[in-house]
Amino acid sequence: MKTVTLPSGERVPAFGLGTWNVGDDAAARAEEIATLRLGLDLGATLIDTAEMYGDGRAEELIAEAIAGRRDEVFLVSKVYPHNASSKGALAACERSLERLNTDRIDLYLLHWRGNVPLAETLQAFMRLKEAGKIRHYGVSNLDLKDMQELWRLPGGEGVATNQLLYNLARRGIEWNLLPWLRQQRVPVMAYSPIEQGRLVGNRKLAEFAKRHGMTPAQAALAWLLAQDDVIVIPKTGRRARLKENLGALDLALTVAQLAELDQLFAPPAAAHALEML
Ligand code: NAP
Repeated sequence: MKTVTLPSGERVPAFGLGTWNVGDDAAARAEEIATLRLGLDLGATLIDTAEMYGDGRAEELIAEAIAGRRDEVFLVSKVYPHNASSKGALAACERSLERLNTDRIDLYLLHWRGNVPLAETLQAFMRLKEAGKIRHYGVSNLDLKDMQELWRLPGGEGVATNQLLYNLARRGIEWNLLPWLRQQRVPVMAYSPIEQGRLVGNRKLAEFAKRHGMTPAQAALAWLLAQDDVIVIPKTGRRARLKENLGALDLALTVAQLAELDQLFAPPAAAHALEML
């Protein structure tokens, strides 16, 4: 498994498992659990979730999927902005730990910026870390201005990642946020890496993929995986698709293929407000 190095020096898989909407459909549950377990078997041992997903149902399903295998997993969860106060974050983390049936979360993220001051959230994260409830902390959906503000606060330089919307059709972060994160050596977790499935139906990508003997999902993921400090977290509740998606790890795109994708999906030509889903 390709890995990405966190600022702490710890290496995590560059391919993780997303879980938005997992656990919502009782008929899909068994296959969703089997898919997460297959992911672990195949080395995709990073699982991304949030207290928001299905109001805790995704975390509960993950607990079932990783039962007896906790130590294999690098577990990422997220706190709602309205819970990210000094008291609220501690309580939210306890609830997540209980649903996940574990004693620690490997990486705990602020899901997006809300009204609680960033300094207060950082303080809560540092307390959780000291208490061993979380091993690393980070943020999600923070733009450059937010990141620069965060960086000046106590504990700000301790963030392990910024989880962001990033895929071939959403390249806005390449303008100034991604370069800034690179400078600070903060890896990006690219969420919705296949644009919630929509890139699979993209004609330009489908033609590119066909020309080069891969599937559109593989092309979208291989493009992100061509960057050394990007972790992809595609979601699928189906084993066959997981195997297909993992195939992206075996596809080192050539310079010519990357240039072709730049032609088809242009990099940003100006600054835009950070996009999120
Ligand atoms: P995504 O991973 O880009 O796409 C998931 C969708 O694509 C699902 O509907 C899935 O359906 C389908 N899919 C997966 N592989 C496929 C394939 N090979 N062929 C065709 N369809 C395929 O979108 P996402 O779930 O929004 O993002 C991934 C993860 O990032 C989330 O699950 C979540 O963990 C995280 N996330 C974080 C934030 C944030 O604010 N921090 C926001 C969004 C997402 P099936 O399951 O039926 O295969």
